[in-house]
Amino acid sequence: MSQSGDRGRMRAGGQPVFVMSDDTERTQGKDAQQANVAAGKAVAEAVRTTLGPNGMDKMLVADGDVVVTNDGATILEEMDIEHPAADMIAEVAGSQDDEIGDGTTTAAVLTGELLSEAEDLVENDIHPTAIVEGFGRGREIALQTIDEEILGGDVDDDVLRQVAESAMTGKSTGGATPEQLAAAVVEAVSLVDGDGDDVEVLARSGRSSTATDVFGGIAVDDELEHEDVPRRYEDATVAVLDQGLEQPEANVEFEYDITDTGQVGDATAGEQARLDRYVDLLVDHGVDVVYSSDEVEDYVAARLAEHDIMSVSYVRDKEMPAFARAVGASRITNIAEATADDFGHADVVRRERYDDEDLTFFENEDAGLVTLFVRGGTGYVVDELERAVQDGVDAVVSAANGDGVVAGAGAIEIAVSNALRDEAAGIEGRQQLAVEAFAEAIETIPRTLAQNAGMDPIDALVDLRAANESGRSGVLGVGSGARVTDPADEGVLDPAPVKRGCVRAAVEAATMIVRIDDVISAN
Ligand code: ADP
Ligand code: MG
Repeated sequence: MSQSGDRGRMRAGGQPVFVMSDDTERTQGKDAQQANVAAGKAVAEAVRTTLGPNGMDKMLVADGDVVVTNDGATILEEMDIEHPAADMIAEVAGSQDDEIGDGTTTAAVLTGELLSEAEDLVENDIHPTAIVEGFGRGREIALQTIDEEILGGDVDDDVLRQVAESAMTGKSTGGATPEQLAAAVVEAVSLVDGDGDDVEVLARSGRSSTATDVFGGIAVDDELEHEDVPRRYEDATVAVLDQGLEQPEANVEFEYDITDTGQVGDATAGEQARLDRYVDLLVDHGVDVVYSSDEVEDYVAARLAEHDIMSVSYVRDKEMPAFARAVGASRITNIAEATADDFGHADVVRRERYDDEDLTFFENEDAGLVTLFVRGGTGYVVDELERAVQDGVDAVVSAANGDGVVAGAGAIEIAVSNALRDEAAGIEGRQQLAVEAFAEAIETIPRTLAQNAGMDPIDALVDLRAANESGRSGVLGVGSGARVTDPADEGVLDPAPVKRGCVRAAVEAATMIVRIDDVISAN
């Protein structure tokens, strides 16, 4: 960014003058394009084999940390990508992950294929501008087709369960069956009226039979300040503090004009009295649990424990808002001014041991937050389980919010491809070629699904095209059971917003890269 900015400024002064040091590298024209396209395609290749229900997992190893995943966004995030163009794709996939949650692999694979098509077009002397415009037209046609392909009928809980299952198939979900997980995901999302931010997904290892638990409230793994407190509370009052319960350290000298050591003692005694008063206030308010983003010092924790009050210090910033919402508390900055309304509530607080650490469950039927707690597998699989269930939640949220669902398993992409070819015929000039190239590119999704299922990708595509003459078809099923049939009949459904997001993200990334014809890197 800064490089092009500098360049612009130099030009604004009159004649273009480039003053570049010896270690500045510069690649221009087709060389620059080729290098960027190659890098982009490499990123797409890296995730291609993970696509769909038959996708394989990747093992990512860095600094002794091991991540095993099938999730496109996670792979791209964990890969140490250096090439700037490759990094752009990873970023676009990352924003798809943030905004929509599912469809990152599809977005990355489609980007790679659009780049590959663009490369051929450039070889045939089609100007990048025409390619960019053609891809833009292609995007509009694709988005319109997705809208037209939205399946009729109610998006009821049955449909949502199918959406959840489609989003989670192919991920290692440990012991719980896909049906159990899908049902739990739909239950959780419906409890929060479709607001995905209000669903917390938490996974811990465990035996398969224990499956899943959906409850209003939250579970946290923070360590207690003082262990000698009850493991269970009923009808608990919870204080959420943005205030430390500690003695100020270094600033003792500034607050008191100390002339002899006796006064230091007085100052400390004064501080202790202040802390005692806080403890008394908490006791008076009937508080059972103190949850603070700041320090609760040992002395205070011990005094609280005498009153059977559990306390937690230094809660991570990103956990505080969800926690406060889960117990319906205000974040208190001054206990002395707190009123009864500021304190939160939990029907039950209970501590349970999982994976060698305690989890504290705050169950609250009226909570603004729902936790989906899943058990299954061990070690690496647990994190992947959490990601898979999060994808399920995101997909159900997308589908539940009135945007509709489309047939998955490559069927929607075949429909888009057909529409692009039809429309391309009516488009003048070189843009036509780019729209046709788009049609070709998007077929990479069903082709890859077929390939990952062990089918011959060319035969499968021929079958698919033929089947789509008479009706909707996709590449269904897993392993040797893979076949070409209507995904809607088999409950393989994707939310329309996920598919729109994939198209937008891929076109954005591909055109961004195609436009670049000059790479100047200052080492
Ligand atoms: P992404 O990161 O793009 O979501 P996934 O690995 O989750 O990648 O694969 C999504 C694709 O898999 C979608 O096209 C979806 O329709 C398809 N899919 C899901 N379940 C099935 C199934 N049972 N048979 C065939 N395709 C499926
Ligand atoms: Mg997915």
